[in-house]
Amino acid sequence: MNSHLVVIGAPGSGKGTQAGKLVSERLYNHISTGDLLRAEIKKQTDLGLKVSKIIESGQLVSDDIVMELLLQNCDLKNKAYIFDGFPRNVEQASMLSKQLLKNSPYVAVYFKIDQDLLISRIVNRRSCPNCGEIYNLISKLPSAPDRCDKCGHLGLTHRKDDHKDIVENRLEIFTKNIQPMLDYYQAIGKLSIIDASESEEKTFTSLLKII
Ligand code: AMP
Repeated sequence: MNSHLVVIGAPGSGKGTQAGKLVSERLYNHISTGDLLRAEIKKQTDLGLKVSKIIESGQLVSDDIVMELLLQNCDLKNKAYIFDGFPRNVEQASMLSKQLLKNSPYVAVYFKIDQDLLISRIVNRRSCPNCGEIYNLISKLPSAPDRCDKCGHLGLTHRKDDHKDIVENRLEIFTKNIQPMLDYYQAIGKLSIIDASESEEKTFTSLLKII
C-alpha cells in the first residue's frame, strides 16, 4: 500500500486536480474535507445546516467538526489516502497525526504558488456537481460547453465561495495559517514542496517524483 499523502496549498493551487489525477493512476483514495462538507449541505443534514453559512462566507468550520467527519470517512487499515483540504492550520495538522494517522507512513506536500495567480484561477473555476471533475474557463474548458467530459453531466457549477470577495477572505485565512503548518511538517521531517505555478502536467511530474 502507498504511504498516505497530505496535500497542502492555497485554494486554487491545483491540489484537488492533482489528487484526482493520482487517484485515477495510482490507487489512492481522495478525501477532501470541502467535498465532505458540501455533501452534508446537499443532503441537508444537521451538520450541513450548521456549516453552510460558514462555508459560504469563506470562514473555517471548527477543527473538531471537520476532524470528526474525517474519522467517520476513513478506513486507514485498508486504503491509502490523499488528504485534501485538511489540515488547514497547525492544530489540525497535529490532530491528523495524533488522532488519525498515528504510526501510518505519510508525506506532506506543499503546493507552492504565487498568490497573484490564485484569484484568477479560482474565480474561473467550475466543477461538475455529479462527479467532482474540475474545469477552468481560461485554462481547462470542457470539450462541449457546460458538459462534463468525464461523466457527461450537463451544467457545471461555480461554487458560491469561489466568487472574488469571498476568495480574498479565504486567501487571507490561508496566509495566516500556512507557515506554522509548514514548520510543523518540516520539524517532523515529512515536508516536500513543489512548484504549483507550472502547468498541470509539469506539476504532476513533480508530484510523482515525491510519492
Ligand atoms: P475547500 O473545498 O477545501 O476549498 O473547502 C471549502 C470550505 O469548506 C472552506 O472554505 C471551509 O469553509 C470548509 N473547510 C474545508 N476543509 C476544512 C478544514 N479542514 N477545516 C475547516 N474548514 C474547512
